[in-house]
Amino acid sequence: MVAGPSGELGSDSTTPIVELIGAVKRYGEVAAIDNVDLAIRPRELFTLLGPSGSGKTTVLRTIAGLVSLSEGRILIDGVDVRRTPTYERNIGMVFQSLALFPHMTVFDNIAFPLRMRRRGRSEIAGRVKDVLEIVRLPDIAERRVQELSGGQQQRVALARSLVYDPKLLLLDEPLGALDRQLREEMQLEIVRLHREIDVTIINVTHDQVEALILSDRIGVMQEGRIVQVGTSEEIYSRPSTRFVAEFMGRANVIDGTARLDGTRSWVETDGGVAIEVAELDSALVDKPCAAVVRAEDIEIHAVGASPGEESTGLSGTVMLRAFEGETVYYEIEVTGIGRSLKVAARVGAFDPGEPVRVAWDTNRVTVVRMDDRAGI
Ligand code: ADP
Ligand code: MG
Repeated sequence: MVAGPSGELGSDSTTPIVELIGAVKRYGEVAAIDNVDLAIRPRELFTLLGPSGSGKTTVLRTIAGLVSLSEGRILIDGVDVRRTPTYERNIGMVFQSLALFPHMTVFDNIAFPLRMRRRGRSEIAGRVKDVLEIVRLPDIAERRVQELSGGQQQRVALARSLVYDPKLLLLDEPLGALDRQLREEMQLEIVRLHREIDVTIINVTHDQVEALILSDRIGVMQEGRIVQVGTSEEIYSRPSTRFVAEFMGRANVIDGTARLDGTRSWVETDGGVAIEVAELDSALVDKPCAAVVRAEDIEIHAVGASPGEESTGLSGTVMLRAFEGETVYYEIEVTGIGRSLKVAARVGAFDPGEPVRVAWDTNRVTVVRMDDRAGI
């Protein structure tokens, strides 16, 4: 994270720019957000990641002041904003529905927030020109929004949210409606924009790949709670709960019971297979938990390919093989493990029905607790 020049932020860079403390929002019986504590650092690009209905939009809307909390507090730059209306919070927002005015020109759309703020003509012209350059659309100010492509409209919406120079930008799945190629382009565009201008971004998505690509840090949401916060690498390689491991894609989550005997630790499945682990949290010993092994960390060996190999790894049978370009995807059935193992192999040509051995580096195995809500 790069801190802005001191003084410009109005607070030192260790003071969170946004802080939620014990935040709860109830709609009748439903807690849309349920006791959320969260501190966003100045200048970071933070992503709230979670499935639909997990409370991401509600967190953003409470920060923006569009929704008021049932319990708890929100601080912006260290100040409780309970009584600060949305328009005084100096926050830029882009939502999936862009809410641009289709019949108006690009210029008038972007100028709109400045006219609302009664800024002068020449200031408006200058700012609109500046933000159109930031989003790389310098020559289309006089075009009508309805004549633009989806990607261009996305950039206009971004430009409009930046035109009054907010210190905080909230993005609620603004790329969700774009096709894949355009979405990938815009993701990189957001990374570039974040690097170039002095702004903190809170992005919301249900797409774990987008979250990994964009973020300085990710907060994973499940049923109104934040279940893990960390860098992309931490969330991907060291998920702390079963839910996070499964949500981050292609992980083998092998249920069992954690065991410790002297210096040896392992997860024992109900079928009696021992998954060795390098590290085990002592609080998990003899508790139900799961060993997580990522699909790309598993190696497949032909049976009897080289002497000694019979003793390493587990024996299994290839159930499925699918060519994916860079990798070959296999599902391997292993006796004593509740489910087939997903494997993304770089090389290899094993056929369905073939007996194989699977192995992995013990250091790559993570042990996660179950998702009992009391444990979160
Ligand atoms: P996400 O953005 O992660 O999909 P939301 O924050 O939109 O999730 O919603 C979280 C939960 O709160 C959902 O169960 C949703 O139905 C409920 N919820 C959100 N807004 C309202 C509302 N205005 N009235 C009633 N329930 C709502
Ligand atoms: Mg949402």
